[in-house]
Amino acid sequence: MPKSEQQYWDYKLETQTRADWDSLKLQLLISHLKHAYEGSPYYRKIFDAAHLHPDKVKSLNDLKHFPTIQKSILRERQEAAVPFGDIVAVPEEEIVYISTSSGSTGIPTASPFTAKDFDDWIDYEARQFFSSGLRSHDRYCHALNFSLFVGGPCVLGAQKVGALSIHAGTVPSERLLSLIRQFRVTAIWTTPSYAWYLGETAKKEGINPARDLSLRKIFVAGEPGGSIPETRATIENLWGADVYDYYGLSDIFGSCAGMCQEKNGLHWAEDHILTEVLDPKTGEPVQEGERGELVLTTLKKTARPLIRFRTGDIVSYTTEPCQCGRTSLRLHGVHGRLDDMLIIKGVNVFPSDVESIIRKDSDFTGEYSLIVNRGVNHLDELTVQAERSTNKDTALLAAKLNKTLKSVVGVSAKIEILESGMLPRATHKAKRVIDNRKNIWN
Ligand SMILES: [Zn+2]
Repeated sequence: MPKSEQQYWDYKLETQTRADWDSLKLQLLISHLKHAYEGSPYYRKIFDAAHLHPDKVKSLNDLKHFPTIQKSILRERQEAAVPFGDIVAVPEEEIVYISTSSGSTGIPTASPFTAKDFDDWIDYEARQFFSSGLRSHDRYCHALNFSLFVGGPCVLGAQKVGALSIHAGTVPSERLLSLIRQFRVTAIWTTPSYAWYLGETAKKEGINPARDLSLRKIFVAGEPGGSIPETRATIENLWGADVYDYYGLSDIFGSCAGMCQEKNGLHWAEDHILTEVLDPKTGEPVQEGERGELVLTTLKKTARPLIRFRTGDIVSYTTEPCQCGRTSLRLHGVHGRLDDMLIIKGVNVFPSDVESIIRKDSDFTGEYSLIVNRGVNHLDELTVQAERSTNKDTALLAAKLNKTLKSVVGVSAKIEILESGMLPRATHKAKRVIDNRKNIWN
């Protein structure tokens, strides 16, 4: 269906053909590889060692010859050439902003931006917010962490759209609720678990979020839940709002992809970041629709180019045109982290798959946890704890859940049915997996 140009932030770019996307990406890739080679001592060394030169790149397919890079290399190069490392490809005078990763798995890595990188990023965030229906009449509340976190400045994207933007950050939930009420906030960005928690907290205070509050757009990121239809539906019903999943990573942009109003996959920032989806074992590309590891190459971010960065995120994608008229590649959300993937008796189990089953069933509250132990004969044992929301017999509920797990995920589990409210409610990223196997050989 033809759409009016006013429904797009950048009509020409967003609706161009796939062939035009590919030629744009190739042109950007070649100049970005040249910039990396000329500006970064690290890339010059590894390209030379592999007898690669940006001038030899003639198609997008040629990128596969370049080596991949991962978080441990970012950390290592940063330590080798303090403070920002030799992957950086511009003089320090040109860097105006850094965000850092949380450092939960080592020293934090800094993600530097030049002034132009920063402006490009915020313009992209505005485009993404616009595609999710955010407009200048909205009152937008940014409820993400501002401390060093790459998700913080994304609020400026909402401001660029013209929405009234409240830089709330991670204030206590009672304060956040009162802000939402006082200023009749219409849109917010937080994590899926927190959106749920906040709605439940409101209900405890006697507020019906869907009826009493005016929040109608909820942007979420940071957990797979925003792309799990059942989780999204639960949050949408609770708030009487639309939930849009966004995806970002600390080493590139606060958000690199997001749902349009069709809510059918996350449109990718293809003119900023090139995606590959690879089989983590063989490094070969997977077919469209198949699951693989997301590997990213920046196309414009000059301060620290990332060439073939392994994210560890397991995704699948489509290049089919979207009903909204946009033609960019869409992710089907993040199915899990490579390091979140549990292998139970040889079967790959993503916590998001179990979440989807539990949240689809109204006999459960939707809260759950997974515990993995290595039991007798060193066999893996999975225990699923789920809270019941009804008074149905616990043995019957356990048998039903185990049967579904077996047929959908392919593993059987010990099921523990808990009463509603027994599992801790997450206020940030939910910790739902306890894997006790790691220490077994110590
Ligand atoms: Zn769309």
